[in-house]
Amino acid sequence: MKVPVSCPGRCNHAWRRAEEERTTLGTLHELSPHWGQPLHCEHCTTRARQQLADLPELIAAIWLEAVYGSRGPKVGTIGRSSATHASWPGQSSRLLTDHIVGGLLELEDDIRELRHLRTRPGRGTEGAGVTEAVRFLGVHLEWALTEHPAATETHDRDSANPASQIAGWHRAAERFTARDPRLEHHRVPCPRCEMLTLFRADGDDYIECRNAACALLLTPAEYADHTRSLASQTRITQAA
Ligand SMILES: [Zn+2]
Ligand SMILES: [Zn+2]
Repeated sequence: MKVPVSCPGRCNHAWRRAEEERTTLGTLHELSPHWGQPLHCEHCTTRARQQLADLPELIAAIWLEAVYGSRGPKVGTIGRSSATHASWPGQSSRLLTDHIVGGLLELEDDIRELRHLRTRPGRGTEGAGVTEAVRFLGVHLEWALTEHPAATETHDRDSANPASQIAGWHRAAERFTARDPRLEHHRVPCPRCEMLTLFRADGDDYIECRNAACALLLTPAEYADHTRSLASQTRITQAA
């Protein structure tokens, strides 16, 4: 019989932390993990598939944002010094696009090599490259989330886990295009970076700081502790 594996996805963030505290501090907990089916749980597998499918449209939106959006070339800046602006219009969108597209192609090449498939054919335009890479990864996603050597890695910012990489690109793109309708904003400063960047995504059992330089993850219990301590600090300041 196969021993069940706990899903390496973010669904188990709270459980992993509780387990860590159980082994290091001896604190007991009543959390149970989301089990893998067989490695990633169904929720994380479905989410990775959805996020992958979203990427072509998000990449197009990054480009549109650069051309027409808040980060694009501004009208009415004539006469103002351009020295304070990004080196050239759309530079940040170009860097992000390179990051995501480069990552997609690298993951595709990686899987082709691991599965002894022929090398990636040339595809002409960048758009065609994205479409084909996403199609390829969709076909091999099941394998990537169970058999890829990094598939067991806990989802972290620097994890090579394919599901974690896809989630990272998706998150960066959504953040850049300022569209993330399922996000609940927790209007309390982050305990680490003190910015108002704490969000909880639909279906997640953790709260995440979306300040890219911080990216702190909090369990609901930790978040509750944090708000309680902030509230008591406020009371002390008001009383003083
Ligand atoms: Zn999971
Ligand atoms: Zn933070």
